[in-house]
Amino acid sequence: MENKRGVRAIITLLLGALAVCGTVAFAIRATPLEKPDVLADISFAGTFSTTDTRYVQISLEWLRDYLPEWSAYVATAKPLIFARDEDLQTRGIVSYAECCYTRGAGAITFGAPLGKWNLYEMPAIPGMQTQQVQFLSVLVHEVTHIRDVRAGRISQPANSRNCVAAEQSARTQELEFVRALTRVPIASNAGARANYRDIVDQQLEIVSENLDDPAWKIACILIYIDEDMP
Ligand SMILES: [Zn+2]
Repeated sequence: MENKRGVRAIITLLLGALAVCGTVAFAIRATPLEKPDVLADISFAGTFSTTDTRYVQISLEWLRDYLPEWSAYVATAKPLIFARDEDLQTRGIVSYAECCYTRGAGAITFGAPLGKWNLYEMPAIPGMQTQQVQFLSVLVHEVTHIRDVRAGRISQPANSRNCVAAEQSARTQELEFVRALTRVPIASNAGARANYRDIVDQQLEIVSENLDDPAWKIACILIYIDEDMP
């Protein structure tokens, strides 16, 4: 009896251990892969509010979850510094990028508070702030400038020819990105999906027109008119 009870106790113990191991193994398998921290290697200048920072985080998490290849595209431009300069708004500038003066980081400066851009009226989408489409689109544009400089694709000096080449590249990538946005099947109700389509289609139209618009080429020539003089 003693022995039998002992054996039963051991078997119970073994089964218990198996159950524990099984649970542990299952738990390990069931735990989703550690999601990358989207804010890693991004620093925020003092001009950036906590609301702006949160906005970047939410937007980059959306990108990571829905368009991982474009999330990786942004990540390869790191380290990044995000800043804000209110004065840009009065000059009609949404944002600009610089590379790479401070600790080798690419710096992106925005004018208006993030999430408060008023470029055009857009409906609301549950689970996503509508202006994130514009923000991410602009972000991909600026990140392209940084990536191009790092990779030596855009040569110095700063002159109109290099300005046109840089803008052509950034606008082309931005268009590719917005095309990718139109293919994202957002998991929500039919109304939200229709709103989303409406917004990304509008953005697609704007970004396509921007690429073809000669205005930015003219701007490049005007900005560098002194440097271009022999
Ligand atoms: Zn640009």
